[in-house]
Amino acid sequence: MALFHSQQTHSFQSLYLSMKKNLYYLILYSIVFAFIINMPLIGYAQPFTHQDTLRGSITPEREWWDLHYYDLAIDVDIPNKSITGTNTIYFTVLKSAQVMQIDLQEPLAITQVDYKNHHLTYTREGNVYHIKFPNALTTGAHDHIVVHYAGNPVVAVHPPWDGGLTWSKDTNGNPFVATSCQGIGSSIWWPCKDHMYDEPDSMLIRITTPASLTDVSNGRLRQIDYLSNGRKTFQWFVSNPINNYGVNMNIARYVHWVDTVHGEKGVLDLDFYVLPDNYEKAREHFKDAHRTIKALEYWFGPYPFYEDGFKLVEVPYLGMEHQSSVTYGNQYQMGYLGRDLSGTGWGLKWDYIIIHESAHEWWANNVTYKDIADMWIHESFATYGEALFVEYYYGPQAAIEYIVGYREDIGNKKPIIGTYNVNQEGSGDMYPKGANLLHTLRTWVNDDAKWRSVLRGMQKDFYHQTVTTQQVEEYMAQHTGLELKAFFNQYLRDIRIPVLEYQIKDKKLSYRYTNIVDGFTMPVHITIDNAEKVKITPTVKWQEITHTSNIRMISVDPSVYIEKNMVEKKK
Ligand SMILES: [Zn+2]
Repeated sequence: MALFHSQQTHSFQSLYLSMKKNLYYLILYSIVFAFIINMPLIGYAQPFTHQDTLRGSITPEREWWDLHYYDLAIDVDIPNKSITGTNTIYFTVLKSAQVMQIDLQEPLAITQVDYKNHHLTYTREGNVYHIKFPNALTTGAHDHIVVHYAGNPVVAVHPPWDGGLTWSKDTNGNPFVATSCQGIGSSIWWPCKDHMYDEPDSMLIRITTPASLTDVSNGRLRQIDYLSNGRKTFQWFVSNPINNYGVNMNIARYVHWVDTVHGEKGVLDLDFYVLPDNYEKAREHFKDAHRTIKALEYWFGPYPFYEDGFKLVEVPYLGMEHQSSVTYGNQYQMGYLGRDLSGTGWGLKWDYIIIHESAHEWWANNVTYKDIADMWIHESFATYGEALFVEYYYGPQAAIEYIVGYREDIGNKKPIIGTYNVNQEGSGDMYPKGANLLHTLRTWVNDDAKWRSVLRGMQKDFYHQTVTTQQVEEYMAQHTGLELKAFFNQYLRDIRIPVLEYQIKDKKLSYRYTNIVDGFTMPVHITIDNAEKVKITPTVKWQEITHTSNIRMISVDPSVYIEKNMVEKKK
């Protein structure tokens, strides 16, 4: 997901104009914005509900069955902003049980569930359905059900951050429809097991639209069926495991062109879908897809979905990391809607949405969090991926400036890791602070070849898997050879930034860490009088070193995200 940035001037200007038109919308938008802006605080204080537990935990009604395959078929009624569809859910029985949890959010409703020529009974509990089989199913059995559903899905107010359906029009008045659902969950538009721990091995997405329009979803377009009622069904097949929020449909009068890039795993197909009016500028602008794949493959290893190709698809919102179908709405500008989030200028040399969302193909779609509380696995690595892109094309100094520039956006008000089992992500610091955490760790490792092999190693060893933060932390500790427990506790689970306290007296430098968690002893390079570089390993206890001459000042390696403070030593 793109960073939510509170200074989105473009959106706010257009919003202001629409506000002037209608007092009702003024009030409505004010409430919504107050909600969005205060969301982290509200989320922090709010007690969690039973619905949050059903949504965010691996309930007994989820645990007993393993997803194998989804066949999702949806007919989209654009004038009525409604959908009708089925999802055929193929699964393996891991443990004998009789009741299955399927998620579908109001106001959508399940209308029928088929199983072996019978209708199953079910009860609804808010956004969750408990579907009952006639008997307990046998362990090891491969089975499937067909879930029918219909209704008007939630309309997204501020996609992609709140999610739902966007029913928009292009400049020529043609429908321009898109889905987005990270966080809120894919059950906002289709019935599924809406938890990230379990992914289908593959998936078919069949979208029926008016004949004049095109649907672009994930994977490869297998066929188009021309229906007798004049409508068309687009069949998209995803041949790899896919996380639920990665599934998408985008409907417009798209123009399409193809290209290829010669990558680490051979020839990768690139497909581009944009609105007709943007065709000329998009052909030029989307050339950055080549640079993106090249740089990210260098750092992270082969693009993880060669079989499904890579697409950039224009949408009526900022953008999202939909798997093999990166959606794009950055208005063909450099940076983030024309602005550089790092404030250094380096962010204006490329398109934030193309690079950031594509980095999620590795960190989100290939290596995926099991619980959204660990969303840093997606966002910290994707934001760090921006810096690695900068490094690949503009050099290490540019990358350091870019990452250090991002520190302005760090709030340190809430930990990066959220609350487990209730579908609660952590602080937005997972973007800028997460990138700084990774760069700080790289500086500690002090071996770029090893660092790159750790990044590529995680992509290989966690290939197409859902993981926990513990797995990531242990992997990085094991493969860097460092003790990192306190390091990750400090930056992921605490809001304090380590402070290097020091005192200078003639030739002597005394120093220690404060503001740290137990056991935090990260070494750091300091420079004495802009001349001599010294590695020190501060702890909570005062230590001292003696220089050859009187010390006037010290500086700390800017790559390391700590603060320094000259103090009077207390004995
Ligand atoms: Zn993101």
